[in-house]
Amino acid sequence: MMNDEYWVILVLLAIYLSECIYFPPVQASLFQISTWRNWSVLVPPSPATAWYRLVVESPFPQLGVALLAEPAPPLLSPSGVYYSAGPPAAQVLHHLNFADAEPFRAIEASIVSGAIATSANASSPISVYRTATAQHAEDFSSLFARIQASDVSKREALITNAFRKLLSTRRPTSRWKAYRKACAFLFPVSWALFGSLVALLAMLWTFRFPFLIVWPLSIFAVSLIPHTAYVFYRIHRMFYKQNATERRKQMILLFLTPPACIRVSYLLARELFAGSHSLAVARVVLDEAASRDFTARTLRELTYPLNPGPANSQSEDLAWATNKWKSAVWEWTEQEFGNPRRLLKPPKRTTPDCIRYCPRCLAQYVLAKEACSDCSGVALQRF
Ligand SMILES: [Zn+2]
Repeated sequence: MMNDEYWVILVLLAIYLSECIYFPPVQASLFQISTWRNWSVLVPPSPATAWYRLVVESPFPQLGVALLAEPAPPLLSPSGVYYSAGPPAAQVLHHLNFADAEPFRAIEASIVSGAIATSANASSPISVYRTATAQHAEDFSSLFARIQASDVSKREALITNAFRKLLSTRRPTSRWKAYRKACAFLFPVSWALFGSLVALLAMLWTFRFPFLIVWPLSIFAVSLIPHTAYVFYRIHRMFYKQNATERRKQMILLFLTPPACIRVSYLLARELFAGSHSLAVARVVLDEAASRDFTARTLRELTYPLNPGPANSQSEDLAWATNKWKSAVWEWTEQEFGNPRRLLKPPKRTTPDCIRYCPRCLAQYVLAKEACSDCSGVALQRF
C-alpha cells in the first residue's frame, strides 16, 4: 500500500503537468520559446477549421513561454466598421455604420455592439472584433466610442493614430526589457522548486518511504512559495497595474496549487504585449531574419488576400478601409526594413521546371495553372 506522501506528490505532479496545457485565444498570434531558447511565432489557425486552440508547453521552467500578440484591427473607415458573420466556412463581410451602431462594449477578448438580448425577438449584439487580450478589447472599444462621438472630419486621424500605436515597437521594447530584468529574480526560484518536485518524485519512486529525506526537502520547497508570490505580486503590479482582481486570483492560486509557482514567469508573460500587433512583437522578440520573414509573410497576405471578389463589387468605402491598414503596415515596414517591395520579391526556383509561383504562399508550380491550389482566389504569377 502506498502512503499519503506518495499520493500528495503524484497530485502535485498532475497539477504541474496540467498547467503546461494552455488554451490561447484562437485569433491571437503566439510567440513561443523552444528548448534551445529560440523564439518562434505561431500564427492563428484558419477560422474555418479552429474552434479552439491548444498549446502544450515545455515542462522545464524557462523564461516566458507563450506571449500573446494582437491580430490585425477590423476594417475601419470614417463611416463605420466592417465585421464578418455567418458560419466559419462561409463568412460574409457586413458594414456597421457608426451613425446607427449601438454602443460598443468589450466582453473579455472581443468587442460587441449592442446590448445582450433580453427577449427572444430582440436582436443579439454584433461581434465586431476579437482581440488576443481583454485589455486591447477594452482600449479599442473606447476608441470606437470616441470615433462614434467625434465629427466625421476628425475620424481619419483617430484611426491613423490607433494603427500607429498598434504597430509601434516602443512600448513592447521597453516592456520586454523590463520583463526580462524582473524575471531574473524568479528564475532561480523556479528551478529550485522544479528541482525539488523532481527530486521528491525520484526519491519516492526509488525508496518508497524515505520520511527523513522527504520532509526537509518539502519544507524547503514550501518555504519558497511566499517569496515567489511576493515577487509575482510586485512584478504583476508593475506591468498590469489596473488588474488588481486578476492579481488577487493568481496569488490565491499560487498558494493553493504550489506547482504553479514554478511557472510564475509564464503567467506574467502572457499579456505583456497587450495592445501590440504581432508584427511589432515579432520585431522585438524574434531575431532579425525571423522577424523579416514574418513581416514578408504578413505583407504578402495583405497584398494577395484570399477570395478578393470582383473589383467592381467593392465599395469605395471598403477599399478605403482595406487600404488604410495596408498602408499603415507598408509604412511601418519601410521604417523597419527599408523598401517593402524587396520583401515581396519572387522566391528562388526550386527546380528549373517551375514556371509559376503563388505570390501569397510562395508554392511553386511546374504546370501552367491559373490559381494556387492552397490559396483560394489567388492568381499564380510567372517567374
Ligand atoms: Zn498559395
